[in-house]
Amino acid sequence: MDSVVLKPGRDKAVRNRHHWIFSGAVRTMPDFENGGLVPVLSAGGDLLGHAYFNRNSSIIGRMVSFGGQAPEAAIRESVERAVRLRRRFFDPAVTNAFRLINAEGDLLPGLIADLYGDVLVLQVATLGMEKLKPLVLDILVSSLKPRSVYEKSDTPSRREEGLENFEGTIYGGAVDKVRILEEGLAFQVGLARSQKTGFYLDQREMRKLVRDLARGRHVLNAFSYTGAFSVYALKGGAVRADSVDSSESAIALAQENFELNSLPADSGVFFTADVFDFLREPGLDYDFIILDPPAFAKRKTDVVQACRGYKDINRLAIQKVKPQGLVLTCSCSHFVDETLFRQVVFQAAHEAGRSVKILQSHRQAVDHPVNIFHPETGYLKGFLLYVD
Ligand code: SAH
Repeated sequence: MDSVVLKPGRDKAVRNRHHWIFSGAVRTMPDFENGGLVPVLSAGGDLLGHAYFNRNSSIIGRMVSFGGQAPEAAIRESVERAVRLRRRFFDPAVTNAFRLINAEGDLLPGLIADLYGDVLVLQVATLGMEKLKPLVLDILVSSLKPRSVYEKSDTPSRREEGLENFEGTIYGGAVDKVRILEEGLAFQVGLARSQKTGFYLDQREMRKLVRDLARGRHVLNAFSYTGAFSVYALKGGAVRADSVDSSESAIALAQENFELNSLPADSGVFFTADVFDFLREPGLDYDFIILDPPAFAKRKTDVVQACRGYKDINRLAIQKVKPQGLVLTCSCSHFVDETLFRQVVFQAAHEAGRSVKILQSHRQAVDHPVNIFHPETGYLKGFLLYVD
């Protein structure tokens, strides 16, 4: 017996091409080394596909192939399809930085790959994907011919998977910083000591929205990190775009990105400050406020506390923005879904006592696809609010 057999009636999710198998769904397991690939059978003996398994993880198995396809062939096909999708959407002369592989969104559980020009950054979240890394790296290197591949595997899931964090160059020469193009604008991406894999690629479409709407406005970019929203706002004709972040190094990076895009020093003020305090300052005169905080809920148990935080900053922004102003409010917490986030914004608007209309709803950019059979890959949502 060399297959995992699911309990009767517990094969529906996998038959529907969801990638995860929870231990409660498993009837029998063979001996296997954690992280190894094992065939998955229904109780009736149908081959459902192959998954990698790890007894230490609450998600015990993650499917990499469905039906009779060999797992290695499925992985190759998934990588090739992911690359093809991005080639269709991005002209490297305009945008040369994008997410190439979005884990289950691209049928590759446990793997993120972001391309920054000719530098690839990988993030491996699971032991199973760690074991598949040589295969994936080989496919990616032969298809993209990157100058360098940097691994930045520091996700919290690694501990449960029995993996240490790892960060360093795994192919080609060491690269510390890379300059990218997004929508024709230049940004500096630091690989080591960066947030995420270096740049918030998922916000590209909301940045374009800000560029389209910023003309003539005083913009506040709260939680600014690289200052990318500020750069887009100014390129879109904003009168001024101020940036606030609590991290000094983030503010320094934002200043560097202003220079890279030839923006004059007086086009925006940089504040190293806590947004919760900053928004309470008297005399704010912004008519467009962008709120793009980090994930306040990193775990399910954080949700109540996180919603309190989201409500606070939204109430303050809605209170303070000038009449006929705009607030672009975002949440990247997976555990705060769009319905809940909308309720939080509702409550914030109610407490602020202003007239608030949702003009648009937004999600993560196209290079962060959500697999329809595996909706857990969706996490980012944003509302464009009009405040009278
Ligand atoms: N909007 C950015 C991404 C924001 S990431 C972009 O498009 O690139 C979240 C940022 O919020 C980080 O840079 C982090 O340093 C900052 N941050 C976290 N908590 C903060 C707080 N309470 N006040 C100000 N900045 C904060």
